[in-house]
Amino acid sequence: MSQVLPNYQHIRPLAVVRCSTHDDVANALAWSRESGIHITPRGGGHCFAGRSSTTGIVLDLSPMNAVSVHDGLATIGAGATLAEVYAGLDRHGLTLPAGCGPTVGIAGLTLGGGLGLLGRRYGLTSDRLRAAEVVLPDGRTTDCSDDREPDLFWALRGAGGGQFGVVTKLVFEPVQAEPTTRFVLTWPRSRAAEILEKWQEIAPDAPDELSANLKISTREVTLFGAGSPEEFLDLAPATADIATMPYLELKQSFDDLGDLEGQVTSRSHFFRRPIPADALPDEPGQELNFTPMGGAYIRIRPAATAFVHRAERFLVEHASTDAGWVHRTWTGLHEHSSGRVYPNFPDLFLDDPLPAYHGENLQRLQEIKRHYDPAGLLHFPQSL
Ligand SMILES: Cc1cc2nc3c(=O)[nH]c(=O)nc-3n(C[C@H](O)[C@H](O)[C@H](O)COP(=O)(O)OP(=O)(O)OC[C@H]3O[C@@H](n4cnc5c(N)ncnc54)[C@H](O)[C@@H]3O)c2cc1C
Repeated sequence: MSQVLPNYQHIRPLAVVRCSTHDDVANALAWSRESGIHITPRGGGHCFAGRSSTTGIVLDLSPMNAVSVHDGLATIGAGATLAEVYAGLDRHGLTLPAGCGPTVGIAGLTLGGGLGLLGRRYGLTSDRLRAAEVVLPDGRTTDCSDDREPDLFWALRGAGGGQFGVVTKLVFEPVQAEPTTRFVLTWPRSRAAEILEKWQEIAPDAPDELSANLKISTREVTLFGAGSPEEFLDLAPATADIATMPYLELKQSFDDLGDLEGQVTSRSHFFRRPIPADALPDEPGQELNFTPMGGAYIRIRPAATAFVHRAERFLVEHASTDAGWVHRTWTGLHEHSSGRVYPNFPDLFLDDPLPAYHGENLQRLQEIKRHYDPAGLLHFPQSL
């Protein structure tokens, strides 16, 4: 069974139903409907807000983790982790634009969008989704795509998991796994403001092939990612590790990057304008993570899929075991942000969360929710 984050490991479910087929899912949903006991699906168990944990019924989808490729399309069981997905696709010389954490679930990641090292080139993970099999709250199993149940298919691409039904299979159009340049450059923490200024100029407008992520931690500034980091070499990094390697190896090399130990508080926001140099928190803390957007992420209309965030330049995540630091630094930067928040980084402290996650797509999402889950069987704090 997948490992939930330490913050939620104390929540003990009444039952864990290990599902191997869509019928298992349908039976468990029927039990929840009849008993009124809360039910929630779990993929990789990595939700920051603990949405796949409950004192009711956890639907553990991890037995449904098969990865297969036919006619250029990859069919992936909704319980697969990213490590299983990358390894399964690599056997066919393929991959997906998706995240780094090897134990993150493909379902949770895709349903909330999916940012990763190939995203500026190929878009979100959900932008590569071509169809899905879903068990609806009323127990029916349906396929959805642009041609079949198109509203459901639209809503599954970026609104966040666990709201419209339980996805059992995901069908993607994968991309070629090509040898790629990996880089990790570092500078002392004292140069953070200067490096951030340059990063904000370069990273969001860089060629699509470059994904340069910036991490400012207590001790140092780290730039890591895929593509050619040439423009950053002018900044005289203290260390520079640059090498071209098979794409799977590159992915695996970032498996442990950025994982803080223990109970981590994480808050984030999107930005459309540069952060002024004097707004960078003076107080060093564990991690400020800057993810570049731009490229293919924003060459899609906000209304084309449920993922509305198509005008953003970058995302900033504040993550620490010191919750006070996270709240102070998030509040300090928030006035410079667009006010929008990535649905896969849910934040229980937001005053008005639904507009922040869904923007102008909110009303359509609420209508689709009413259609597919009129009784609100699938719910959590901040759900539609
Ligand atoms: C260590 C770590 C690294 C991360 N790295 C990245 C990254 O590189 N890029 C990125 O974009 N995000 C990243 N994230 C965030 C990640 O995308 C979200 O936490 C995501 O929701 C996790 O999905 P999951 O399946 O692991 O989690 P879960 O907690 O199992 O699920 C998340 C939500 O989706 C629902 N859900 C799960 N499975 C299904 C299903 N089959 N059908 C319907 N609903 C379902 C759950 O009920 C819950 O609401 C990371 C998170 C962590 C903790």
